[in-house]
Amino acid sequence: MSRHHARWAWHRASKAAKVRAEIRCEKCGWAGRLQTHHKRPKWKGGDDSPENLIVLCGRCHLAAHRRLGASRPRDPGPKPASGVRRGLSPEWRDLVDELGR
Ligand SMILES: [Zn+2]
Repeated sequence: MSRHHARWAWHRASKAAKVRAEIRCEKCGWAGRLQTHHKRPKWKGGDDSPENLIVLCGRCHLAAHRRLGASRPRDPGPKPASGVRRGLSPEWRDLVDELGR
């Protein structure tokens, strides 16, 4: 796998995870600035598959890395743009369907 390909695969998996979460934090539901987190860290052998990725807001992401446990729910942020799927290219829609939505 070339370096470029690995980068692309990561980008693809990261985007798929965000679409799956409908652009919301999967822990607290906040729809602000989100990051993709590896459930199993790469140094522990985790990969970039959608199953190993979880979309978290910055706060939950930090908590996950600090092992503070789940953060308390907070008010949902701005609503994600409706029709996330509609804005996707056919390739991404296929990917979302693959993930069972
Ligand atoms: Zn969160």
